[in-house]
Amino acid sequence: MLRIGLDIGGTFIKGGMLDHELHILAEKTVAFPGAKRLDILPGVLEDLAVNLCRQAGKSLEVVQSIGVGVPGSLDPASERVLNAHNLGMTDYPLLALLQDQFPLQQVRLINDANAAALAEHRLGALRGCRTGLMITLGTGVGGGLILGGELFNGGMGQGVELGHMRLVHQGEDCTCGNRGCVEAYCSSAYFLRTGMEPLERVELARSGEPESMVIVDRYLDYLSDALASMIVLLDPEIIALGGGISKAGEFLFGPLRQLVDQKTFFRISPRIEGALLGNKAGFIGAALLGRD
Ligand SMILES: [Zn+2]
Repeated sequence: MLRIGLDIGGTFIKGGMLDHELHILAEKTVAFPGAKRLDILPGVLEDLAVNLCRQAGKSLEVVQSIGVGVPGSLDPASERVLNAHNLGMTDYPLLALLQDQFPLQQVRLINDANAAALAEHRLGALRGCRTGLMITLGTGVGGGLILGGELFNGGMGQGVELGHMRLVHQGEDCTCGNRGCVEAYCSSAYFLRTGMEPLERVELARSGEPESMVIVDRYLDYLSDALASMIVLLDPEIIALGGGISKAGEFLFGPLRQLVDQKTFFRISPRIEGALLGNKAGFIGAALLGRD
């Protein structure tokens, strides 16, 4: 059985083909056509799928399923994209358009953070856990929750939006239209407000520059507050951190673990680790939708 996963982002679309043993047979990244050119998106995705097939020496007819990850919220039936700001999609009937483009395949949609959680649970940092969190720290803050050994997408299918938990009363504006969300303090938006990209700022802090050390310490204070709230709610075994900011690695994770320990009173703390699949997690998780 062959399956394709496509991970649509605001800048790039990453795609990959997996075989029945979940080996990656082909992968490719193409440019997202832009929020104003959504009319050509189904064609771009088809070209990408055909290219993956060519790389793997297969024909599209033998691909059984195509999973598509989207950075936004889906309706409970996972047919329409209710909101994906980065892609310019509002109440967008993506499933129907893709089913027309790929009539021979089972097509399914998934939120990109859920896709990453699924992939990390099956093949990466969350492997084998019954309760775990995958949190991506990038342009936004995405969250995926493994509960009882399975992906949990909310009680009514509306999603698990850890990035939009409230962190600061009447705080900074968030992309969702509310204020004070985790995303407004734990994404790159926090660092950009200080006039610098996250990893640049972290490098300066690492070199001992005083102002940057304070800025990074404050970031860790916010992030550990957010994680501590999630921990007392869920008592997870493991929290995997992905996304661009997580590339700072142990320089952030070490102090983060200490802060989280201080802010929770459980005797056993969850493991806090870097995610393992990097930017492949999105397309791998989307491809896993076709498993059964
Ligand atoms: Zn928000």
